[in-house]
Amino acid sequence: MRIIMVTAGNYGARVVNTMAVHGLAPQIVAVFDYTGEGGDFLDDPSSLLPARTPDADLTVAAGLGGDLNLVAAEIAAESGSGGIIVESHAPGQLPDGLRSEIDSLVDCAIFPTPFCSLEPVGDPHIDTFASRFGKPEVEMEGNDRVVSVKVKRSAPCGSTFYVAENIRGVPLDEVDVAAGEKFHNYPCLASMEVDPRFGDTHLHVAGYLTREAFKRAAGVPGAHAEVDPEVCRGAECGFICMDVCPLVRLSMGTIRRGVTAEVDPFSCGACEKCMRECPSGAIKMMGPGKR
Ligand code: SF4
Ligand code: SF4
Repeated sequence: MRIIMVTAGNYGARVVNTMAVHGLAPQIVAVFDYTGEGGDFLDDPSSLLPARTPDADLTVAAGLGGDLNLVAAEIAAESGSGGIIVESHAPGQLPDGLRSEIDSLVDCAIFPTPFCSLEPVGDPHIDTFASRFGKPEVEMEGNDRVVSVKVKRSAPCGSTFYVAENIRGVPLDEVDVAAGEKFHNYPCLASMEVDPRFGDTHLHVAGYLTREAFKRAAGVPGAHAEVDPEVCRGAECGFICMDVCPLVRLSMGTIRRGVTAEVDPFSCGACEKCMRECPSGAIKMMGPGKR
């Protein structure tokens, strides 16, 4: 697979570095960096196209603001890329109109929000990338404490590798808290501004996704919401908890809808929004210090 990277800023550089260090260097046929170029609106995005664009199968846009993402899409079209991944890690970085324009230029365009939510989508080249980078997934060895961690899929910024290297020796029942702390030490460059699309910040969601990977691997769910099925009245409230959960709004299966609501304790980020909004008082926070 041949990959073109179109990047800007520290975030874009981090993604390129992570891909190169962790096995995709031979696949990267070009890096076009637009740090310091343009703004949200460009009169003529085509004026920023490189003089020569190599053939490629996949284009990845990381760290670009506004119309610079259109430049990435035009590069993708020029290169013959059948797929483009355009990440966003801040509210307003990719307005709907811009997504439509990018969609019209490349056969398969996807917009992971944040980038570390990426999972396979059914496109061969995007899925090859997503098998290595996207929503964090790890395997862990240990009895009472973490002995070793194998990263199966890292957040594209590389934070999963950092957490994996620094969590050895932590008791399994403290993995949730430790993973959250290590993640923030990296530190994540996603926005701290609430995104109205899902009602939380990109930074928080990225943290929930990292903690989920380590909690699942440890087999200990840590802090999470739990629904009392005897108290839940989903048919009456219309499953408000699902409407307010930022991860459900990002198409994660964090809350399942049956006769009552049911929370996946490993996926839950413990943001407490569902507990605050439940009209029946059916949701409690569980885990360390919560009972
Ligand atoms: S908001 Fe409360 S009552 Fe409604 S479905 Fe969720 S847990 Fe049940
Ligand atoms: S606490 Fe509730 S709203 Fe927050 S992530 Fe967990 S299930 Fe979703």
